Amino acid sequence: MSETLNQPTSTPVQLSARHLTRHFTTRIPGRFMKAKHVVRAVDDVSLDLVAGHVTAVVGESGSGKSVLARMLARIVKPTSGELDLEGTPIAVGARRTLDYASKVQLVLQDPFASNNPVHHVRHSLERALLLHGATKGTVDELARAALTRVSLEPPDRFLDSYPHELSGGQLQRVSIARALCVRPSVLLADEPISMLDVSVRLGVLNLLKGLCDNEQLALLYITHDIASARYLADETIVMYAGQIVERSISTALVDEPTHPYTQLLIASVPNPADPTSQAREKAEHTTFAVADVGCRFAPRCPYAMDVCRTSDPPDFTVGEGHTSRCWLHASEPEAVSEVAPPERRREGETTKT
Ligand code: SF4
Repeated sequence: MSETLNQPTSTPVQLSARHLTRHFTTRIPGRFMKAKHVVRAVDDVSLDLVAGHVTAVVGESGSGKSVLARMLARIVKPTSGELDLEGTPIAVGARRTLDYASKVQLVLQDPFASNNPVHHVRHSLERALLLHGATKGTVDELARAALTRVSLEPPDRFLDSYPHELSGGQLQRVSIARALCVRPSVLLADEPISMLDVSVRLGVLNLLKGLCDNEQLALLYITHDIASARYLADETIVMYAGQIVERSISTALVDEPTHPYTQLLIASVPNPADPTSQAREKAEHTTFAVADVGCRFAPRCPYAMDVCRTSDPPDFTVGEGHTSRCWLHASEPEAVSEVAPPERRREGETTKT
C-alpha cells in the first residue's frame, strides 16, 4: 500500500481513506450469459484529505479517479476499504447520512447537467439549505452569502437567473456555491474546469485555491490535466487502471516524474514550441490498454521488462514523500523475475498490492 504524505500534526485530516477498492462485475455475452468479467475500477487506494490542502488525482479516462471521488462521497459503495471522517470511522456499506453529505460535498464536471434548467439559482441554493436544516427565515441571507463567497456579485443579479442565462464559468460557481452553502469540511471537485472555456478556467481554479486557503477546506481536485494539478495542488496522485502509480508533492512529481505513465502524461501536455514531438508521443502511446497480469501499464510502457509482465510492482520510495510503482526503481529488477512466480488472477479475485 502507498503511504500518504506526512502532514504536520497541526493540520487535521478531515477525510481519510484506507485500501478503498471497487470492482464491477459484468457479464460477457455468450451462451446463458454466464461468463463474468471483473473490472478493477479502483484497487487499494489510500489517501488523507487535510484541512487547507489541495490533493490532486490525475489520470486519463478509465483510471478510476471519478469512481474514487464517488466512493469518498459515498454515492458508490466500495467493494472493500475504510473511511474515517474527522476521526470517526464510517460504515462504508451503510446508507449515506445527511450529516456525512453536508460535510463531504461533490462538485461535478458539467455545470449544465448538474443544475436543473427549469429552476432558477435561488431555488437550487435554498433547496439545498432547507434539506440540510436551515430555516425558511434564514435561507435568503444564506443563499446571498454563498454567492458572495464564490464572487458572484451582486448576488441579486444571479439569484433569479436560470442556468441558460449564465455562462459555463458562472454556472460552475453556482454549483460550488451550492456545495459550500451547507458548510462542508471536504470538497470533492471532479474535473470542475474541463468543460469550461479556457479563458475562465484559471478564475475557477483560483476560487478553489482561495476557498481552501481562507476557509480551511480539504479539497480533492480530480483532473486529467497534470499542469493544472501542479498549479493548484499541494500533493498529486497519479492513477492508472485503478491503481496509484506515483504520488508526491506536486512540484516534485511534475518536475521530476519517475513513473513512465506520469512521464507520458507530461509529454502529452501541449507544447506550442514543439508540436511534432507531442504528436509523436501521442501516436506511440495513446491506446489505452491494461494488462491482467503484472504491471497494468506494461502494454504501453516503452521500458517494459520481463518482470513487468509477470509481477505487479510494489511502491518504491524514490524521494521524500515520493513513491513510484515501477520495477525500474528496484535495486535489481531483473533478479525479481527469477524469484517472483507469475501472478495468475482468477475471476473475482481482488488485487493485493
Ligand atoms: Fe513500465 Fe515495468 Fe515500470 Fe510498469 S513496472 S511502468 S511496465 S517499467
